[in-house]
Amino acid sequence: MAKLVRGFRDIFEPQSKNFTQLENCAREVFSLYGFSELRLPTVEQKELFVKSTGETTDIVQKEMYAFEDAGHRQLAIRPEGTPGVVRAYLENNFVQQAPVQKFYYIGNMFRAERPQAGRYREFEQIGAEYIGNSAPAADAEVILMLKDIVAKFGAKNYTVKINSLGCDKCRPLYRQALIDFLSKEKDTLCENCQTRLEKNPLRVLDCKIDGERFKGRVPTMQLCPECQAHFDEVQRLLKGKINFEVDPMLVRGLDYYSRTVFEFQAGDASQNAIAAGGRYDTLVKNMGGPATPAIGWAMGAERVILSRGDVEIAKPKSVYFVSMDKACNEAAFNLMQAVRAAGVRTEGGLFDKNIKGQMKQADRCGASYAVIIGSDELAAREVTLKDLQTGNQQKISFDTLPNEVKKLV
Ligand code: ATP
Ligand code: MG
Repeated sequence: MAKLVRGFRDIFEPQSKNFTQLENCAREVFSLYGFSELRLPTVEQKELFVKSTGETTDIVQKEMYAFEDAGHRQLAIRPEGTPGVVRAYLENNFVQQAPVQKFYYIGNMFRAERPQAGRYREFEQIGAEYIGNSAPAADAEVILMLKDIVAKFGAKNYTVKINSLGCDKCRPLYRQALIDFLSKEKDTLCENCQTRLEKNPLRVLDCKIDGERFKGRVPTMQLCPECQAHFDEVQRLLKGKINFEVDPMLVRGLDYYSRTVFEFQAGDASQNAIAAGGRYDTLVKNMGGPATPAIGWAMGAERVILSRGDVEIAKPKSVYFVSMDKACNEAAFNLMQAVRAAGVRTEGGLFDKNIKGQMKQADRCGASYAVIIGSDELAAREVTLKDLQTGNQQKISFDTLPNEVKKLV
């Protein structure tokens, strides 16, 4: 028998309803903030992620599903959304026509990670990208938008951490200070961090193995006056609207971030980030466009759902059609369509089964009523409507059935 691939999942109802609910909340909030939906392709050039997400990131080094297609193209199944958004922005010439763009996307991402709770090889991200606004107001706006979505969905137990990674002026100094500090402890670092130390020392702070023990000990970032002013303003705008704490250890695992970075965290497992993002003021330029500021975030739908937990979503009341005789099948079938057209959830049509089998299915579906049609009913152009809770029965004519049922359910 065919088997599911490790790290991938089938998601049935009622779990799948959580996703729809979260997506609906997100769409409503995105609309309030004037963000428009961008539907991105799942496959991109591998190079896109190597160049933007970053060659030394876990995503590109270890987690990316990259492959060569029959035409010898080097492709990747997207591990994240931002590079695709920026590619689409540049390729479709928004730079010339409408440089300020607010996009959102909803889609599955793929990373070959070790599967565990809250960490899957295929997972859903809902993301937002605000391109073309360098003002601290944009940072505050996207953070509050994220909060609004999470709040609307009903997840409550999370903390918000923010930090500034500075710019090309102040980060190199910090980078060097970090290298000096970490070099002294090089031998005690995990294998990965030993390489990170040279290529991207900030990433050591984000390491799932080593990160924690440097808390409070590593040198902290000295921002240049512009970056400090930006960060101060972001915090001023957020004050009173969202609870947050500044965490100097928050560095994020992607290469393209500058200035503001943030995470919404729930629980204390290593997969505690329910959503994360930051500014990426140099990415558009690095990808071949003009210097264009931008900020964005992505939330992991599974983790947001896990942090809220399932809530009971009431199943709509429904009717179930039973035909007692082959001669009645067509009339029953046509009536089912008429009742659906009236807006009532309608099931049935298991007409190859006997009445007992059909009634059993009505029970399994959790239907409130059975609509039964036999040859007597057909002759009189009426049905027997049976309340499956009380067992009460009544006759209703074909013509009035849709409206009558609508009143009942
Ligand atoms: P982590 O540190 O947990 O590995 P990340 O830094 O790799 O997360 P991002 O690339 O910033 O995560 O992705 C944004 C969000 O997507 C994360 O905050 C998380 O909620 C979700 N996410 C990332 N990887 C996975 C995964 N493998 N399974 C489920 N959700 C994920
Ligand atoms: Mg990761």
